[in-house]
Amino acid sequence: MSDSVPLYLDDSYLRDFDAAVVRSGPRFVVLDATAFYPEGGGQPSDAGTLEAGGRTLKVLKAVKRGPQIFHYLDGDITEGTRVHGSVDWGRRLTYMRLHSAEHLLTGLFEAEGGGPKVFSSFSQLDFQPSSIDEAALKRVHDRFDSIVEEDAPVTIYYTSREELDIGDDARKRSFLEKMPPRVQQLRMVRIGGYALTFCVGTHVRSTAEIGRLRSLRLEAKKKQRMIVYFELDNVK
Ligand SMILES: [Zn+2]
Repeated sequence: MSDSVPLYLDDSYLRDFDAAVVRSGPRFVVLDATAFYPEGGGQPSDAGTLEAGGRTLKVLKAVKRGPQIFHYLDGDITEGTRVHGSVDWGRRLTYMRLHSAEHLLTGLFEAEGGGPKVFSSFSQLDFQPSSIDEAALKRVHDRFDSIVEEDAPVTIYYTSREELDIGDDARKRSFLEKMPPRVQQLRMVRIGGYALTFCVGTHVRSTAEIGRLRSLRLEAKKKQRMIVYFELDNVK
């Protein structure tokens, strides 16, 4: 079984690529290499197109199964065919911005002693137990926008499980505990000196690309759970 080389891990700005079909079936193909991000880690799948022999097929979804990445299509392509892939860039960039913002906000709330993070998505972060108040929220909002202004770099590197420090992220800790021991190398994403976590997702290259916050809102729930809702400028 041939593996699919995940091109998006080394270059999250790669939109176009050439590859070969190494496996095919009704309305799906596996490629030897791909820039299509498969769904996972809270980030949804890319969409886009594959061109093959003068035909353009839609990629509706990409899914990782073991070492292979399946592309679900609106038609069939036979094994051995050379294809040209194009990622729907508007969609991907929006997800990269929101996902990178999620990391940066997590780091900033950790620095405020926001408490263990128990949930996060493209629009909210939950901390529990948490003592975040409106003053802390305001500080994080101002800090976020000044880091965007500063255009701090987003860098990727690999580390061993022993060297890992994931701070106060309860979700990541339980995820790590469930990870098989054979997984020794972890992919880390660092946003300037403000956020650090392990992640296999796609990220923007610097904070200016994330853009400023449109809103940051706090809601108190039972049992000291605090929910932070966020929205970015220029994201629908
Ligand atoms: Zn990430």
